[in-house]
Amino acid sequence: MPGASDALAAEVAQRQQQLIETRRYFHQRPELSFAEHETAAEIARRLRALGLDPLEGVGGTGVTAMLRGKAEGRQPARTLLVRADIDALPVEEEADALVRPWRSQNPGVMHACGHDGHIAIALTLAELLMARREYLHGAVQFVFQPAEERIGGALAMLTDGVTAHPKVDASLGLHLWTPVPVGQVSVAPGAVFSSADEVWLRVRGRGSHGAMPHLGVDPVVVAAEIITALQTLVAREVSPFHPAVVTFGSIHGGNAFNVIADSVELRGTLRAYDPDDRELLRARIGEVAHGVAQGMRAEVEYEVRGGCPACVNDPAMAEIVRRAAIATVGADNVPDGDQRQAASDDMAYFLEAAPGCYFFIGASDPKRDIDAPHHSARFDIAEEALAIGLETLARATLEYLKP
Ligand SMILES: [Zn+2]
Ligand SMILES: [Zn+2]
Repeated sequence: MPGASDALAAEVAQRQQQLIETRRYFHQRPELSFAEHETAAEIARRLRALGLDPLEGVGGTGVTAMLRGKAEGRQPARTLLVRADIDALPVEEEADALVRPWRSQNPGVMHACGHDGHIAIALTLAELLMARREYLHGAVQFVFQPAEERIGGALAMLTDGVTAHPKVDASLGLHLWTPVPVGQVSVAPGAVFSSADEVWLRVRGRGSHGAMPHLGVDPVVVAAEIITALQTLVAREVSPFHPAVVTFGSIHGGNAFNVIADSVELRGTLRAYDPDDRELLRARIGEVAHGVAQGMRAEVEYEVRGGCPACVNDPAMAEIVRRAAIATVGADNVPDGDQRQAASDDMAYFLEAAPGCYFFIGASDPKRDIDAPHHSARFDIAEEALAIGLETLARATLEYLKP
């Protein structure tokens, strides 16, 4: 629909300043995961002002709103979930208030991942679509999700039925992304974010005098063997064409230099892009650790704590977004090839619940010193990215729900 698209581009351009103001409003008022009370209330207030009827307190501090189209179509009407995460991080923002008067007003809390921009884009999309309901065959379920940073908000909302009542047929979400320069959109089928699992191990030995190791079982030595053995899992048991990571970031045991400890605790993170690799590694970490410990007279307790699956895009939905991105920024600015990012996001649960696409809106501009990594105290976005995100998301939504 070239005519409607051109009108859309103009409408988005008109809303550029509004997007920036909305982003800055939420940037000044960041709240931590599952504590997004003022954020949620403001989102609901703005949705109501648009004529929608939002539900608050969904999945804790989440907000949803159903926008129903008015077009008649030959196919049965479908429902598209559009997700925006709304939480901030426990980071003290490093920004000069003279340069950035919109810096965080909440000490020790900062929108250091761009979720303030996600809120602005989703709210403005709702406004834009309210004026275009006659072009929508079906409905958009807006999902303002709490607690992405702690991983937990998406599952809590799913438990509250956001994809079930009514049944959601597809899902879309975007992330403003500083590893990609502003002006570009990164979209790809298949896995784009890895899974993330915390793995926890306790190696139990038997304490002893440091000079009499034969009277005890040294869990420090066993833990060292286990960590080394686990490094072979990715190297020897996962396909060389499949990236995966096993990292132990924490190891604690013993208090004195000359005493053999009773136990050692290991905590690590497991990342994989393929769900089968994830399952294999989750199981094999425990098996290998048990085997090594048994061979050395020690025992192991093993748990996988608080995991999140990989974000896996549906090819058809990724193609809709790719075309929307090309219409927005041009084919030269929608790179081909591997678009996987080394991070995780609980958008994965919405993508599991309904075929969907999670995509990345380039948001860095090194010329203006806007290139800090996500979660950094100096994080910022090139705000032109907001309009690119809105236009791409709007085009994809209109395409999916066209009569
Ligand atoms: Zn983040
Ligand atoms: Zn994020």
